[in-house]
Amino acid sequence: AYDHQGISAISPRRKTRPVRVGGVQVGGGAPISVQSMTTTDTTDVAGTLAQIRALADAGADIVRLAVPDRDAAAALREIVRGTPVPLVADIHFDYRLALAALEAGMHCIRLNPGNIGSRERVREVVKAARERQVPIRIGVNAGSLEDDIVAKHGWPTAEGMVESAARHIQFLEDEGYREIKVSLKAHDIAMTVQANRLFAERFEYPLHLGITEAGTLLSGAVKSAAGLGILLAGGIGDTLRVSLAADPVEEPRVARVLLKSLGLKFGGASLTACPTCGRCSVGMIPIAERVEQRLGQLKGEVNVAVMGCEVNGPGEASAADVGVAYGHNGVGLLFKAGKIVKRMKAEELEDALVEEATRIANERK
Ligand code: SF4
Repeated sequence: AYDHQGISAISPRRKTRPVRVGGVQVGGGAPISVQSMTTTDTTDVAGTLAQIRALADAGADIVRLAVPDRDAAAALREIVRGTPVPLVADIHFDYRLALAALEAGMHCIRLNPGNIGSRERVREVVKAARERQVPIRIGVNAGSLEDDIVAKHGWPTAEGMVESAARHIQFLEDEGYREIKVSLKAHDIAMTVQANRLFAERFEYPLHLGITEAGTLLSGAVKSAAGLGILLAGGIGDTLRVSLAADPVEEPRVARVLLKSLGLKFGGASLTACPTCGRCSVGMIPIAERVEQRLGQLKGEVNVAVMGCEVNGPGEASAADVGVAYGHNGVGLLFKAGKIVKRMKAEELEDALVEEATRIANERK
């Protein structure tokens, strides 16, 4: 089950300068971390913490929160105290909110230094970030490029995005600050890919990947997988967010599946399920969905299969650590690594599978 080497075997990951977001290293060869963002009102401390925990349980390594005003900033200290994962404060324009977020113990701030006014303000934010060793994420979006850059290129372009990033980076480097990570996002996949590639040629700062306004669960997942997949397959990307117009817990779930399918992340359960065909005599799709959900919290690596027939199931899913294959007449098979271990009543198979998968995952934790 561990024999695949993943996409890194084909194209090595780009060497980047590591930064630390709380206990999570980003870049410098660290595993690619998964990010997501809360949708709650940040002033609702209990609600925000509940959502942060749900996102962490779904696989988020780092969670970002909007900090739009002083009230939101005032809630951060308590949120930091209760969070199970490092947090990023998302700040636009107001350097006082950045200072408040740093003061509250946030583990990273997202802020474009060229947008907060005078050099003096940048200096103050950098000083506070440096004291706490907190990185700054520069976030460039194609839709909000500086007017002069758009005017120069005629419209938003990949080159313009990199130019914008370079400008913001310069503000921090002028202050001697290099705890930086950068995102270059567009809703256009080609532009996102091109911008990240151009950036990667010029800078060694770690990259946070994402496609903006990717869409609802299905279209957003596919679009993100296409765009981020191209970059990841070229060794680019140190952390990522799959942005979805859906329940936020879907974001880390999709991101994890993406990373696992490229062999860039290990741990947790991976489900193989056959598409079913005329050989299948049970309604298997809801079973596969339930199994995936029931195993969603496992930390140890385990590959699980739910297959629609006894004839081909165990063989087709021989790479799975444990699987079930449904047969006719209300019976089916439990198999491990392609070998049949037990014939059971069909209604008992799901529980037997979950139990065995949990045991294996816990052994490997
Ligand atoms: Fe069809 Fe069986 Fe293959 Fe599933 S495992 S697709 S039911 S042949």
